[in-house]
This record gives sequence, C-alpha cells and structure tokens, in this order.
Amino acid sequence: MIDSHCHIDLYKNPSEIVSGIVSRGMFVVSVTTTPLAWRGTHALASKSKSIVTALGMHPQLVASRAADIEQFEHYLPQTNWVGEIGLDGTPDYVDSMPTQIDVFRRILKASRQAGGRIHSIHSRAATRLVMDILRNEADIGVPILHWFSGTQRELNEAIDLGCWFSVGEPMLRSRKGWELTQKMPLSRILTESDGPFVQKQGQPARPWDVESAEKLLSGMWSETHDITRNRLASNLRRLREKFIQTDVQW
Ligand code: MN
Repeated sequence: MIDSHCHIDLYKNPSEIVSGIVSRGMFVVSVTTTPLAWRGTHALASKSKSIVTALGMHPQLVASRAADIEQFEHYLPQTNWVGEIGLDGTPDYVDSMPTQIDVFRRILKASRQAGGRIHSIHSRAATRLVMDILRNEADIGVPILHWFSGTQRELNEAIDLGCWFSVGEPMLRSRKGWELTQKMPLSRILTESDGPFVQKQGQPARPWDVESAEKLLSGMWSETHDITRNRLASNLRRLREKFIQTDVQW
C-alpha cells in the first residue's frame, strides 16, 4: 500500500505510526509543514527503508514564516521529495497570498536548480493560481496535486501540464472528488491518507487506511483490489524511476 501524503510528525505517537507502516510493508511519503521540522521528521523514519521524508513549507504557515525559505533551500539537497507546499486561497489565508506566491515560486525555482524533485502540492481554493505558476515554471520535476478540488477544466489543464494526483477516501466519497478522479489518467494516480488531519470513525486516519481508497478506486475502475493495488505500485515505480538515485528501497 502507498500513502503519498501523510504528516507522520503530527500524530500523538509518531513511532507507533512508523511501526505500523513498517509491519505492513507500506511505502509512505512523510510530508512536513515547515523546514524546521525536517531534521526531526527525517530522524523518525531513519530506520525504515520505505518511508521518504519530504521537505515542506505549508501555505497556511507561510504568512508568519516566509523567512524559513532559507532553511528550505539549505535542506533541499538532502531529499528528492518536497511537500507539503502550494497555495491556499480560503478566507483565513487569502490575505497572505502574495507572500504564498513568492514562496511557492522560490521553492519551485530551487527544485529546478537542484535537478528536479517530486512535489506534493496543496491547491485549496487556489487551483487557478497553482496552474498558472506551474505552467511558468518548467523542469521542476513532478508535481503531484494532493486532494485536487478544481474544476473539470482545470483538471484538464493539470493533466496537460504533466501533473500527477494523490487521492484519499474523503475525496473519493464526495461526488465532485469522485467525478474528478474518474477523469484522471489511471497511470498518474497515487493514494493518500492526509492523516492526522483527516478523521476516520472519529480517529485520525492512519497511513494504512488508504486501503479504503484502494477499494473505492477498484470499484471505479471495475477491477479487483489486487489489480488496483498493483497498478498503484507500478505508478509509484514509474514516478521514482525518474529519480534513480532515490533514497530508499520498496
Ligand atoms: Mn496535508
């Protein structure tokens, strides 16, 4: 199983989550929300061969922490994975949009200069802006749009731009999310939990809860759960082949 967007460092007991991942043989992208969390979060997974730590600067935190971009640039050579980054245009965060845009652009520029990275990108209420910036920033590596919530038209643009998509259970259980996912190329989809922010039965969703998303996708694609799981694993393999020198085995 694959969880391509999980905040392991934000669970009450991260080492329990790491053990659960390892015992199930999962592959997990452990995203962070600030470069200041990079070292500690990376250390959490240091013994695991199937957890990669992504360097992040969450758009909801950028308003007060734009200067952390220097730390971001400092740590970037240490990882092939970047996230969570992006833009958030919801009312609580829209005031910081100019700063968010500056920081997002600077991150993508750093990725390009470093030879390209795999990015987990947040675009809530800002799909249009994210698309416009991605279109103008070539050779950044791979953008994965996490929990995409734009229009069908924006989805088509994202597909043309070479974006990948990470989808989770709450997205697949909403009508809009389901219909968007139906239009995504099967070869560019990965599963995600977005735990612990997402709740499942009153508890923070855990990485292995992506099994529910796999089952929903297998229903969407009218194939067995095994075939869907293999398809997702081969998607991940193809994604990582772009970064042969990558950090872990899975
Ligand atoms: Mn997230």
